[in-house]
Amino acid sequence: MSPLRILFATSECAPWAKTGGLADVSAGLTAALVALGHDVRVLLPAYPSVRAQAEQRPPFWEIPASAHFPACALHQAPLPGGVPAWLVSCPEFYERAGGPYQDGDGNDWPDNARRFGQLARVAALLAGAANPLDWRPQVLHCNDWQTALAPAYLRFAGGARAATVMTIHNLAFQGLFPPEEVARLGLPPASFAIDGLEFWGRLSFLKGGLQYADAITTVSPTYAREIQREPLGFGLHGLLAARRAALHGIANGIDLAAWDPSTDRLIAQRYDADRLTAKAFNKEALQERLGLPREPRAPLLGMVSRLTRQKGIDLVVEVAREIVGLPAQLVVLGAGERDLEAQLEELARANAQRIAVRIGYDEPLAHLIEAGADAFLMPSRFEPCGLNQMYSQRYGTPPIARATGGLADTIVDATPQSIADGTATGFHFAEESPLALLAAVERAAELYRDAKAWRQIQRAGMAADFGWGAAAQRYAALYADLVRPGDADD
Ligand code: ADP
Repeated sequence: MSPLRILFATSECAPWAKTGGLADVSAGLTAALVALGHDVRVLLPAYPSVRAQAEQRPPFWEIPASAHFPACALHQAPLPGGVPAWLVSCPEFYERAGGPYQDGDGNDWPDNARRFGQLARVAALLAGAANPLDWRPQVLHCNDWQTALAPAYLRFAGGARAATVMTIHNLAFQGLFPPEEVARLGLPPASFAIDGLEFWGRLSFLKGGLQYADAITTVSPTYAREIQREPLGFGLHGLLAARRAALHGIANGIDLAAWDPSTDRLIAQRYDADRLTAKAFNKEALQERLGLPREPRAPLLGMVSRLTRQKGIDLVVEVAREIVGLPAQLVVLGAGERDLEAQLEELARANAQRIAVRIGYDEPLAHLIEAGADAFLMPSRFEPCGLNQMYSQRYGTPPIARATGGLADTIVDATPQSIADGTATGFHFAEESPLALLAAVERAAELYRDAKAWRQIQRAGMAADFGWGAAAQRYAALYADLVRPGDADD
């Protein structure tokens, strides 16, 4: 495949700016595309956290103010993995104390429409006929609502342009704004229509990408099917179903260097598939750290998660007593909805021998839970891709997960057949209910007693390849399909 010039537009990129999985995808996928020989630029706002970490050079393009946007400048800086980033410097929009989307109190920035409209406008300028630079992308890859207006700007500008790809990382976030923003963002009035950017009376950034991008992708094949109907289509299922020929599901990879039990410095004892007995030291270390007694015969179940209904935390709360009565121990690390945090803490108080809960964000503890738990719980209501089920398989900690989105695609359920042929890597349940979750945990606890069968499940998960290479090849094949011959070297 001949190398392609790809502009990857994103509102987050690890390690400079991260609020969630998008940052890891931006870093992991672009590095893997470069490893395949492609010529990639990551377009990212120059937030203070980015400016503090990036080795920024003088601007190479000063973009003048337009009728609708202030002037801005582009600077190049290499990401730690070597991929060049193009930073959009626009102090009035991006240089403020707080996060990429919210102030320090968790309120959305009131000018988010214009902040990310600017990012999308710059992406469109680079991908369109007006780009004056030596480097012009053949593909513009947009991610989530923050960059989703770029395909719309390109469409309304007309003229030659790069092929466009729109990736949905989580359809629950759509970038909805009042209709007055249409004019303020320099979008034509006619764009505010049902077959344009209008969504129930509001302007939808994400719809811009879904209507006008040449291809749409999302982060697992199952999620690609689920979003074409209610309830996971969040009102956009009709449009997604209509565009299904252009809609592709490509599962994310993970950072294999950061999540490797044979080299992980954040765990008590390193191990691999041939030294699985050493994993037990991590279980003891975890129990000790969280004040749980040793219970050699009881499986320890781990969770590291945002504590939200999306993640099915309420399902766990409902059957936690039955789960630990099997017997089993349960360890939960996370932060999120206050009522769920309080219910979990109450369960830990009432069952101090078997349940430990830590509220907060704690990366080292997350690693120790992956290494020390016997199995990992992910009862998500929906999960576009999910990361922890892949981490846990790599750590020999079989996941027990609801069969949705990426959890359906990256775990092989333990059935008599898959156990017999050695392909089982975890446990699925289908129904969104506490009892279905409990039944899956019981199934896992029973198999846990069969040490030989359990070892086989652990080893099958540890042998699975969750690197970014496979995903990068799929994206590259999609880009190549979109870039018609003749477009390549203009
Ligand atoms: P989502 O992006 O929907 O929250 P993912 O599974 O895709 O879910 O990614 C979440 C990532 O954040 C995982 O790597 C998970 O381990 C990590 N994480 C979530 N909560 C915590 C926490 N409290 N402490 C440490 N890591 C966490």
